[in-house]
Amino acid sequence: MRQLRELRHRRRLASLIVVTLMIGLLSTSCGLSKDELAGAAHPSLPPGQSNSDTGTNDGSGKGNSGSGSHADDNHAGSPPGQTVALLHPQPPAITIEPPVMLDQPTEQNTDFLSPQGAKLVALTFDDGPDGHHTPAILDILKAKKIHATFFTVGTQVKRYGKVMRRIRDEGSEIGNHSYAHKDLSKLDSNPILNQIKWTDELINKQIGYVPRLVRAPYGATSPLLKQIVKDNGRELIGWTVDTRDWAGSSVAEMRANVNKNTHPGGIILMHSFGSKHVSNTVELLPLIIKDLQNKGYTFVTVSELLAAKAHSNHAKTKQG
Ligand SMILES: [Zn+2]
Repeated sequence: MRQLRELRHRRRLASLIVVTLMIGLLSTSCGLSKDELAGAAHPSLPPGQSNSDTGTNDGSGKGNSGSGSHADDNHAGSPPGQTVALLHPQPPAITIEPPVMLDQPTEQNTDFLSPQGAKLVALTFDDGPDGHHTPAILDILKAKKIHATFFTVGTQVKRYGKVMRRIRDEGSEIGNHSYAHKDLSKLDSNPILNQIKWTDELINKQIGYVPRLVRAPYGATSPLLKQIVKDNGRELIGWTVDTRDWAGSSVAEMRANVNKNTHPGGIILMHSFGSKHVSNTVELLPLIIKDLQNKGYTFVTVSELLAAKAHSNHAKTKQG
């Protein structure tokens, strides 16, 4: 009786050993790990990519690349027939928009060599064009045979294509003053780029070039805006004399201000649209043209002013 019990025990022990050996042999002979065995159910997936990715991958290749390893762990404990995605829902796919790049400016390069000792000054008009004051300003400039620079706003460019072409045809320059006169210093890069890009496109459509010059609305800049302008081959243009025409200054005050604060190489800020005071600007313009010409100033566009400054800096470096 005791022998029989011992025999049965030995048999059970022997069969247990055989089963254990067989399991061990199976799992080591094919050389696959537990995880890989689970993954082998999806032989079409690229290495490192789990089946849980297939439902959310948008096919763009931007999604989850490189994140496959953590998902592999999920498979190990998955009961057969149950999708891993149910156990471990994927976070919503994040779409990262590629940054909007601006076109390089196509405005013709200005090479302006001013006569020795010339006193240059640039007149600038912001926020237009419009159909009333901008043509009046152009009439004055034409009569005096001088050129100025108009920093135009996209929403106005769209409406006054004819005035845009007149500015170009009469030799004045056009710059980008944003699409909707936004404070660019408060915006992130894509909104900044859009404000510039939309206006570029409208200007290009009306007059056939992408301007090099950008003036920030309110003169409000940020390190980001400066970087964007620089990275895209543009020039950020400020001013040296603010006529404060926008604030309703009288013609006499503005005239005195310009005469007091204008120096060679200066840029004078005025407006051709955007406030009820623009008629004062139209009245001021012939007066300051006369005053500054009497002081020996020559009126140039902003690009001519920059070119003249570049020439003069080049000459200085050569000497020094
Ligand atoms: Zn403005």
